[in-house]
Amino acid sequence: MRLRDSRSGELQELHPGADGKIGMYFCGPTVYGRIHVGNARPYVVSMLMKRFLEWRGQAVTLVENVTDINDKIYIAARPLGIPSDRLAGEMTQAYFEDTGRLGLGRPDVEPLASETLAEIVSLIEELIADGHAYEAGGDVYFAVRSFPAYGSLSHQNPNQLLEGARVEPGEHKRDPLDFTLWKANKEDEDTCWSSPWGKGRPGWHIECSAMAERYLGREFAVHGGGRDLIFPHHENEIAQSNAAGRPFAQVWAHNGMLQLSGEKMSKSLGNIQPLHEALDEWGVDTFLMFLLRAHYSKPVDYSEDALEQARAACETMRNRLREAGDGTDAGLREAIVGALDDDFNTPKVLALLFDAPAGAGDTVAEVLGVLGLGGLAQEEEAPAEVVELARRRQDARADGDYALADELRDQVVGAGWELRDTANGFRLYRRGA
Ligand SMILES: [Zn+2]
Repeated sequence: MRLRDSRSGELQELHPGADGKIGMYFCGPTVYGRIHVGNARPYVVSMLMKRFLEWRGQAVTLVENVTDINDKIYIAARPLGIPSDRLAGEMTQAYFEDTGRLGLGRPDVEPLASETLAEIVSLIEELIADGHAYEAGGDVYFAVRSFPAYGSLSHQNPNQLLEGARVEPGEHKRDPLDFTLWKANKEDEDTCWSSPWGKGRPGWHIECSAMAERYLGREFAVHGGGRDLIFPHHENEIAQSNAAGRPFAQVWAHNGMLQLSGEKMSKSLGNIQPLHEALDEWGVDTFLMFLLRAHYSKPVDYSEDALEQARAACETMRNRLREAGDGTDAGLREAIVGALDDDFNTPKVLALLFDAPAGAGDTVAEVLGVLGLGGLAQEEEAPAEVVELARRRQDARADGDYALADELRDQVVGAGWELRDTANGFRLYRRGA
């Protein structure tokens, strides 16, 4: 599979590592509240890529971290009057449950920052020893000027970045561009860990460098996450890991943001819908269809209208499957594999499925299953009394009593079922399912 690399702008092939597996690292949520629909996108994109590669027989190790040490967690826990680690624990569970409802399975490893402290501390020690980081007042900072390639991912140079850089009160940076690897414990922070620099906690960026390396090694195929993480988060991950001599990710793939009325959805803007509420309101199939209709790298508007369209697309797909008839289609399958291999083009795959030729029903159902939409291929069995009404209608038609047949059809529809006549008799489908 080739993905468009954010750094080079080119399509780049994902190569398996020495273990034969494609190593994928995606930045997961910071667990200070229930995740919103925008947070769900990188999870969905990464799981669908994993499912597709595995369907093709390519083994994958997908690592998706949980950031359970972060300023946002301290800030959110204080007004709730609960310990920050309790809030992080509860929100981690909620994240597993909310995304679990999507039915896509789990990443292979979901590491917690709080369980990766040894690796984080030793990576920081290496950076200090190599002159890329320094301790000051119990904090440790990465010296950005010691890494000349800084800015290669976000296509900025350090001098441009300097304009927006500041030294916050209480920081001990030598250069405003430098960023924190380790933060000394503060009075209002109720968790801390021991380190060679005293009690404190890791910065956000170093957590991901350490977790990626622990589970994927020093070099791996692809690092993903939301486009809003390119700078500074991913730029800083590259600086830390490359400066420490690790090749790190070969390809950087970023998903576009979910937008509400053209603005990025975020907790700080207050324009969010929690994932669990979206799934209650729209159901899993409609939500996944909504995401699949857009290319993963593009921003997409999260609106009532877009979700209604996705719901209608689910209905069209169900009908397509009902009409398609059993059978497989090697050409269709090949075209679909080609579209996903080419920067994971799900809108193209949906178009191919909607246009599936007759006799390709099994291929359509198989691909829907890979994309998490297997539910669209499953028909609910009609209750016995509805089947009985349909039988009586069939008899009435055979007797030429069309008035009775129409009346019985109305009763079937009134019970919430749709009746279709086929060469092999009637079929019953749940209406609007
Ligand atoms: Zn990260």
